[in-house]
Amino acid sequence: MSLEVSSSALARCAVHPEMSAAGTCSRCGGFVCADCVKVVPGLEGRMFCAACEARPEVNYLEAFRLEFWGRRDRWAWTVGLVSLGLLALGLVSALDPRAPTALRLLFAFFAPVPVGVAFFLGRSWARHALLATPVVMAVLLGPDSREEVSLVVVCAVPALITAVVIHRDVRNRLFFRRDVTPGELQALWNVRRNNPLARHALSFGLSGVFMPVFAPLAVLCGAVAWRRVDPEAHPPIGRGGQALAGIVLGVASLLLWGFVLLSFLNRFLSGVVVHK
Ligand SMILES: [Zn+2]
Ligand SMILES: [Zn+2]
Repeated sequence: MSLEVSSSALARCAVHPEMSAAGTCSRCGGFVCADCVKVVPGLEGRMFCAACEARPEVNYLEAFRLEFWGRRDRWAWTVGLVSLGLLALGLVSALDPRAPTALRLLFAFFAPVPVGVAFFLGRSWARHALLATPVVMAVLLGPDSREEVSLVVVCAVPALITAVVIHRDVRNRLFFRRDVTPGELQALWNVRRNNPLARHALSFGLSGVFMPVFAPLAVLCGAVAWRRVDPEAHPPIGRGGQALAGIVLGVASLLLWGFVLLSFLNRFLSGVVVHK
């Protein structure tokens, strides 16, 4: 009597032996159950196991995330430089012998410096402390008169809004090694890597309507960006609509401004003829 076992009965998930496999990983060939199957953006239709899905050579978003993981962004540099400026301002006021500065004013200048330095160095607590900094500075400045209060509010509110924007910024969160959702990562990738030339083509096209010098740039960028569009590529390259809009706007602006120039020349030349 031969012992026959059907192949489907043998195929079990590598992680969950109690589950039968739904298929095999496209990269390593391991069996995966329905719960373990991962789909990689841009490679829909292929199955991956969890380990392979997280590999940068498979998942372009993962590669993109690793590229910025712990890497200082422009916000870190901005906060660092502003702190340096406040330190310099505080020192200059403190060392000015002609006009002694009130102690609370010096506190207001120096208090944010450690936060700014820690932020620049990527210390996690500084991310949250930055939110409180504008409020702390406003309190330390201790405005007395009505005018002073309005001045402090006018400065503190934009600073607070900026601090909130920085706190939520996906690129900055990657610098601080905070997890970001796949959707947020995809949005950042879209801005940075998904055919940015097409975006430039569109903005050149819009500028070209008012300033004709941008119109040829719009056509040029639009044409190059249009050639790059490839929805089948991995990762998919899009923004065909923006590239096309840039070309159309560029050509339309050139025609419009050409027409304006011609009619101007025509009027000018006919004026010259009449004067003769
Ligand atoms: Zn695998
Ligand atoms: Zn499984």
